Amino acid sequence: MVRLVLFDIDGTLIRTGGAGVGAFGQTAELLFGVKGASERTHFHGRTDTAIIREFLLQNGKGARHWDIRHFLDAYTFLLDHRMQEHPGEVCPGVLEFIEDLTRMKQPPVLGLLTGNVRLGAELKLRPHGLWDPWVLGAFGDDHEDRNQLARIALDRGSRHFGRRLKGDEVLVIGDTVLDVACARAIEARCLAVATGGGSPEMLKESGATWVADTLEDIRALEVCQ
Ligand SMILES: [Mg+2]
Repeated sequence: MVRLVLFDIDGTLIRTGGAGVGAFGQTAELLFGVKGASERTHFHGRTDTAIIREFLLQNGKGARHWDIRHFLDAYTFLLDHRMQEHPGEVCPGVLEFIEDLTRMKQPPVLGLLTGNVRLGAELKLRPHGLWDPWVLGAFGDDHEDRNQLARIALDRGSRHFGRRLKGDEVLVIGDTVLDVACARAIEARCLAVATGGGSPEMLKESGATWVADTLEDIRALEVCQ
């Protein structure tokens, strides 16, 4: 039985219409005068810190901890502004799915597993009333490698329960093949949803335990038992 459910954010819980991507491009231009950085960058399923390090190195800038922090400070400021103007939307079925999870006889603990830094995650989710359900999380500022983030989330979940959680007690819900890969890295179950633009066929091929067009199309009970 699943004891810990870990949600990805972008394309899984919400669609921001590119607020993060826009804030990234704006930061690159404001701080470094680099135009069009967001068009040349691959964002999906990656961590904020890995994306920023790649940008800094490709543009001949320092990429020490402090340099990444400096970028993030401006990025989160601009992201906050963009989210207030255009918060985007909650993906179909998310609220009902979370409610179903909390109503289960033995409700699993809910957490986040996301490449967003913690503050970025909060800025994206709070406008949608989606910041409160999470007991724990692993974020882009915990590690740059998403598969390591899954291990960190598993460790935090295990600490919460006071025992080592087994892989099939953990369910990862995400919208990209990288989410599926990080679920597999900890031998967790994986529910892949096609709400982030990925095709159901591709998600199926990547080895997801379940694939659904949206969270409206699958019941929490079905994936947690
Ligand atoms: Mg995503």
